[in-house]
Amino acid sequence: MKQPAGPRWLYYRGYVQFFSTLLANSYFLRGLKGFCYPGLNCWSCPLANFACPIGALQYSSISARGNLANGKPLWSVLPLYVLGTLILFAALFGRMMCGWLCPFGWLQDLIGRLRRYKYKLPKWTGYIRYAILIAGVFVIPYYTGEPWFTKLCPQGALQGGIFQPLLHPELRAGIQTMWYIKQGILLATLMAMVFIRRPFCVAICPLGAFFSLFNRWSAWQIKYDAEACTDCGWCVEHCPVGIDPRREVNGANCISCLECQKCPYGAIHSGLRWGPESTARLSKGVPSGSEVPS
Ligand code: SF4
Ligand code: SF4
Ligand code: SF4
Repeated sequence: MKQPAGPRWLYYRGYVQFFSTLLANSYFLRGLKGFCYPGLNCWSCPLANFACPIGALQYSSISARGNLANGKPLWSVLPLYVLGTLILFAALFGRMMCGWLCPFGWLQDLIGRLRRYKYKLPKWTGYIRYAILIAGVFVIPYYTGEPWFTKLCPQGALQGGIFQPLLHPELRAGIQTMWYIKQGILLATLMAMVFIRRPFCVAICPLGAFFSLFNRWSAWQIKYDAEACTDCGWCVEHCPVGIDPRREVNGANCISCLECQKCPYGAIHSGLRWGPESTARLSKGVPSGSEVPS
């Protein structure tokens, strides 16, 4: 099989993920807690600098109920700042934040390097994350007054749940059943990462669900050239979420990591959707009669 190719900058993705995680958790920029980070990074981690957008949306849902009951108009309770930030990032980059910036996505890539993938999640599991976005982030917090996604989030269990009691021993006396449940969820998620490609991103993450709504329409797009493709299967084997790039680049499950752009035959490119190759070559689909390697 030919060697992977593509522009040099594609090979720095791991470094970008590392520095993104460092930036989000460097402690020294704590004055930025009011800004949303476009990735899943727990706000309550003692080292975290930014706000988690999913946490911010949940607390907006919680406060909206009381504010509406007090007669405030609907527009005034909408989380315009958080939604605006997420929409701006997603409209420009689609899900590239998942592939290049998100600390929890990076963790899944690192564990994925063990290359023990044995299972593939059925396609319908990709819809669970939308249900979690609607129910877990908006509806349930609104009616219960509790941020239920945060209570169960494995990234929170890792960053807040482990580092807080580690750095602040006085908190350990307050550990209750919920802490153990959350750590159990984290353990199960970590185990799943060994055997399934990015399981949390594929099935669970409400932030990824939000970004996926924009992936097909974002300014940055991936372009598949069916004429240059030899059906070697390299891209299918190396896609971190286990989809077939020939069919599903820019789709809801594509995290825009651009790994498939390393195609040895130069059949996959990316760039602004209005670029020179945008219309003629954009996702023409797999040539008929081609085999998709399993
Ligand atoms: S889908 Fe994955 S990579 Fe994207 S925000 Fe969620 S955890 Fe991070
Ligand atoms: S796009 Fe075609 S040629 Fe390129 S890696 Fe994928 S299957 Fe191989
Ligand atoms: S299709 Fe390509 S860009 Fe999308 S997730 Fe797979 S490898 Fe990454």
